[in-house]
Amino acid sequence: MRLGRFLQGGREVYGALEGDGVRVLRGPEERVPLEGLTYLPPVEPTKIVCLGLNYADHARELGMEPPEEPIIFLKPPTALVGHGGSIVYPKATRRLEYEAELALVMGARCKDVKEDEAMEKVLGYTIMNDVTARDLQKRDVQWTRAKSFDTFAPLGPYIVTREEIQDPHALGIELRLNGRRMQSSNTRNFIFQIPYVVHFVSEVMTLNPGDVISTGTPPGVGPMVPGDEVEIQVQGIGVLRNHVI
Ligand code: MG
Repeated sequence: MRLGRFLQGGREVYGALEGDGVRVLRGPEERVPLEGLTYLPPVEPTKIVCLGLNYADHARELGMEPPEEPIIFLKPPTALVGHGGSIVYPKATRRLEYEAELALVMGARCKDVKEDEAMEKVLGYTIMNDVTARDLQKRDVQWTRAKSFDTFAPLGPYIVTREEIQDPHALGIELRLNGRRMQSSNTRNFIFQIPYVVHFVSEVMTLNPGDVISTGTPPGVGPMVPGDEVEIQVQGIGVLRNHVI
């Protein structure tokens, strides 16, 4: 199932994508045509947990040893923007960069989850652009400022529920800037696999339904400027498209 949140006029619509329409899941039974709907981020998380270096090919590119344990940081939910929304280039940076990532959406409240029970807690998958002010990231000890501006977390276009993805560790992931391929890898290059990541994060903090864990980016990160169109495609999920303004 593909679950999305949309805006129709001033009304929020949450439902399952079916063909060229949305079957409304909250409220009276109804089918709304997809045309004319604005995509919202598919979830309203209490937090967005991001992984630092998690692709072996990206570690090689940087000449770094793979980390022994995941490096995690947070992005605020106020950074979210949906498919089709604009990424605002902040005045405070001179180097805005994209990062294509597969994101997990949690389906159950959990804490201290065992690895072999972790997948049951995942509702599904979506796509995130972990937009980063690279100059500020290098300048600051903490990455909060570099990762947290409004619109620095494009997410969507929708959630693909877990049962639709046979193996989340075999998905092609690609990023195109103005149609040109800039990142291309596969989730088989993950250093830390999803069950371990969920286990690891849940040993730190309670995960709530709708919380997002973004799984890190492959090689090829680079700059964006106003006017650019950035598309991230993950095999079996879809395309997340945004513009920089
Ligand atoms: Mg990232």
